[in-house]
Amino acid sequence: MTEVPGSPPARRLLLVHAHPDDETINNGATMAKYAAEGAHVTLVTCTLGEEGEVIPPELAHLAADRDDTLGEHRIGELAAAMAALGVTDHRFLGGAGRYRDSGMMGVAQNDHPACLWRADPDEAAGHLADVILEVRPQVLVTYDDNGGYGHPDHIQAHRVAMRGYEIAARRGHRIDRVYEICTPRSVVQAGFDKLAAEGRDFPFEGIATPDDVPGVVDDELVTVAVDGAAHADRKTAAMRAHASQIAVDGPFFALSNDLGQPFFAVEYYRQVHGAPSGRADDLFGPEQEPAVPSGGEQR
Ligand SMILES: [Zn+2]
Repeated sequence: MTEVPGSPPARRLLLVHAHPDDETINNGATMAKYAAEGAHVTLVTCTLGEEGEVIPPELAHLAADRDDTLGEHRIGELAAAMAALGVTDHRFLGGAGRYRDSGMMGVAQNDHPACLWRADPDEAAGHLADVILEVRPQVLVTYDDNGGYGHPDHIQAHRVAMRGYEIAARRGHRIDRVYEICTPRSVVQAGFDKLAAEGRDFPFEGIATPDDVPGVVDDELVTVAVDGAAHADRKTAAMRAHASQIAVDGPFFALSNDLGQPFFAVEYYRQVHGAPSGRADDLFGPEQEPAVPSGGEQR
């Protein structure tokens, strides 16, 4: 580390995700905001998303049941998305291609010997602990223990994150605060109400429901809301970069199920480890005050 002794510690945020695109859909505004404020943002993606369903017809040949080159393609999409968000530190767990996408729960791909679902938990978490010890983040963000919506790779990403957190603590770096990604029920409902009220023609086949949104929780369980509205354009650009997986239409988007969903620039978190930050709008605690005020009149 090259920190100057006596200077305020830099803020360091680590996010652990299953596939390229999950980081942008869930945390794109948060990542852009903290990166813009000078925090060190590290993304660890566990698989290349080889089993994803491809939306644009002209890219259909990339799919796992055809050329099986979607993973390589998504490395490029993720790089473009990170450029859009202003995030420079991005890695794949154990190196690109170390763990393969396991597909949806119950499919034959769950048994692929190289897939993340079959990974040795200690080995996979050991790779993450190596990153934690190198970067020494104060904040870790990942999914809840159901992976938000039950996808094997999302469940496994949660397990890798939590075990990696414990291994790193034993090896010398305890992360101050761990958060799970969530969305408050009232916000999801309001977003869908707005989508319905637009009453215009969407290019999507239908409209999703709140049940289609991962990680919906009762409002009182939410600890922190990060307002990334000032960085919404960056999140939109990053979503467009994941073109094989996401179709964007103004303030709405659709995944491969072609059901329109509202776009959120405020992103929500539930703290599960560490002392409460004491802030409703910041993942970091008072120990990690930004070195320079972000401008404007201070109260
Ligand atoms: Zn995913």
